This record gives sequence, structure tokens and C-alpha cells, in this order.
Amino acid sequence: MKKLVLMMGGQGSGKGTLSKKLLAENPNFTYIETGAMLRALPENSPLRAIIERGEMVPDDEVCKLLESKIIAAGDVLLDGFPRKVSQAQWLVEKFGDKFDTIAVYLNLPESLMLKRIQNRIAEGGGRADDANAVAVRRRLDTFKQETMPAINWLRSVKNVRFLEIPIADAPIDVNYKTLKSALVANKVVNYR
Ligand code: AMP
Repeated sequence: MKKLVLMMGGQGSGKGTLSKKLLAENPNFTYIETGAMLRALPENSPLRAIIERGEMVPDDEVCKLLESKIIAAGDVLLDGFPRKVSQAQWLVEKFGDKFDTIAVYLNLPESLMLKRIQNRIAEGGGRADDANAVAVRRRLDTFKQETMPAINWLRSVKNVRFLEIPIADAPIDVNYKTLKSALVANKVVNYR
């Protein structure tokens, strides 16, 4: 059965970096990052204004774009989706019986999320919208109000395996090791 790995975690959880490290070692996975997918839409797409405001694109639009990509792929590493309960429900309904679905929750406390973002700003390496305190707060609130309920819903779904990875205030390699151990132990990835 094909695998569908959902990488979920708040800002500063290292989600993107950890996903890329995982892909480098497991090239059989197709990486689908909804943020990048949406940012690549043509200039004249009516969705661009929504994305630029940092608001969520309507479910039907993002689901439509995602569906064909998932169908065409083999094993999938999904980053940035689901972000809310309705998206998690759609995913399980559509693909729950076709894919071995594994929700990976990168768990770090909100205080650490803030600290990580502040560090990124100080280092000048953060995203443009990290520099905007209001946008940072809004993204944290959205995560807490919309994405956490989706994560918690996935915990209890019968045909979804749920892995919780504690993210420490430590270098990325330390957290990658924790993630990799859990994925190997649960046979999500195979290393020779
Ligand atoms: P990101 O790079 O993941 O922060 O995504 C950039 C933007 O794409 C977000 O601010 C949203 O406007 C949009 N986006 C990404 N993923 C989703 C999603 N699952 N549902 C709705 N909108 C999304």
C-alpha cells in the first residue's frame, strides 16, 4: 500500500527542514507542499490576493489542486495540509482506504515557537512575513484555533497512524534523529 505521510506542526517546529532531510534519504517520496503549490499559481489567479493576506484558501480550491497530485504520486510526503478539521476529514474520506496514512505531529510548546521565530528574525533568515509581529501572532492563533483541532481529530481516526514527535530546543540534527527513529520503528521509512 502506498504511504501518505502528513507532516504537521506549528511555526518553528522545523517542519520544512525536517521534511527535506527526510526526502534526501527517502527519494521514493513525492513531496507536496501546499504553500509552495499555491504560491506557484499564475499571476492572474484570484487566489493570489488571499495567499498574500496570509489567509486560508477555500477548501474546495486547495483540495481540487491537491487531489490530482496525490492520485498521480506514489508515496507522498505532505507538508502544509491538512490545516483544519474539514481538510483532515476530506483527506481521510478520499484517501484513508487507499493509502497507509501516517500523521506526524511535531510537538513543540508555543513559547518555543515564539523563541524560534524571534531567532529567525534576528538572524535575518526568516520569511518576509516573520518580520511582521501581527502576522506572526495571526499565524500562531490560526495554528492553535484551526490546525490543533485537526491534529487532535487525526489522533482518533481508525485508519490513520498517529506519531507524536517531541521537538526539543536543540539543533535540527537532534530533532531529526528523534523523528527518524520513530519513523523507522513504525516502518514508515526503511533504511538499509
Ligand atoms: P505556507 O507557506 O505553508 O505558510 O502557505 C502559504 C499560504 O498558502 C498560506 O498563507 C495560505 O494562504 C495558503 N495555504 C497553504 N496551505 C493551505 C491549506 N492547507 N489550506 C488553505 N490555504 C493554504
